[in-house]
Amino acid sequence: MDTTTLGTRFTSKVAVVTGGAKGIGGGISRALAAEGAKVVVLDIDDKAGTATVRRISRNGGAATFIHADVSKKTDAHGAIAKAVKKYGRIDILCQNVGIYPRVFFDDMTEADWDRVMNVNLKSAFFVLKAIIPVMQKQKYGRIVLTTSVTGPRTAIPGLSHYAASKGGLNGLIKGIAIEQAKNGIAINGVEPGTVYTDGVKAQFGEGFSEGLGRIPMGRLGTPEDIAGPVLFLASDDAKYVTGHTIIIDGGQTIVE
Ligand code: NAD
Repeated sequence: MDTTTLGTRFTSKVAVVTGGAKGIGGGISRALAAEGAKVVVLDIDDKAGTATVRRISRNGGAATFIHADVSKKTDAHGAIAKAVKKYGRIDILCQNVGIYPRVFFDDMTEADWDRVMNVNLKSAFFVLKAIIPVMQKQKYGRIVLTTSVTGPRTAIPGLSHYAASKGGLNGLIKGIAIEQAKNGIAINGVEPGTVYTDGVKAQFGEGFSEGLGRIPMGRLGTPEDIAGPVLFLASDDAKYVTGHTIIIDGGQTIVE
């Protein structure tokens, strides 16, 4: 998705990507920038965040990194305020941040549960609370949440807290969609299957291939595979779509 000639699909648009430094979020940040958006990358990983911004700049795009732990209200609200101060508006939010530490329910502590809920679900509350008033003033906003097939469609042992958080995001999408439609704000989600990302490599090893045999397309997903449908939902091509999710899994969840 690297390019030196920028596309024009998002020219003059400002986009915020949470967890935008690497993995799927890195792919979304690069793809939005490659289509002309000014991208604000929010992440806790300063090294990866600045590397992504540098990579975007090298390819002729515009991006800024803001350190923010979006599971914390002050960080989330502070980062959105900084983005608005810099660019004057926010047209697109990709609320992508998420963690998937595996622990079986028998061994799960309240701290395990809270950590996943705070990063995956409560962060969406903080970020949306900060961004929706900005979008209401503009009477324009496109929001795309990265949820998962895990929870809404399927389950993986050791990820019941994660599944609950992603099911929660899917519910949030519908609730916000019906409340904000009249304000020019659309909210949708993507449900990735198994994507070979930095997070997956770090947690499960470089050779990770779990579930590969069940994927009709015969390969794991890439961040670019997810970024394509995210950009569609963030664009005016999807202007009459709100409250829905797109499954992006190479056909994994249709296998009986
Ligand atoms: P990743 O670990 O590769 O990237 C996640 C990014 O989020 C990292 O840059 C990390 O530093 C950042 N981050 C983590 N906690 C943060 C916090 N509190 N505040 C700000 N930034 C934070 O992960 P990924 O695999 O790219 O996953 C991205 C999203 O996609 C997550 O929501 C995940 O649940 C979802 N997802 C991933 C897969 C998969 O197979 N990889 C499948 C379905 C859904």
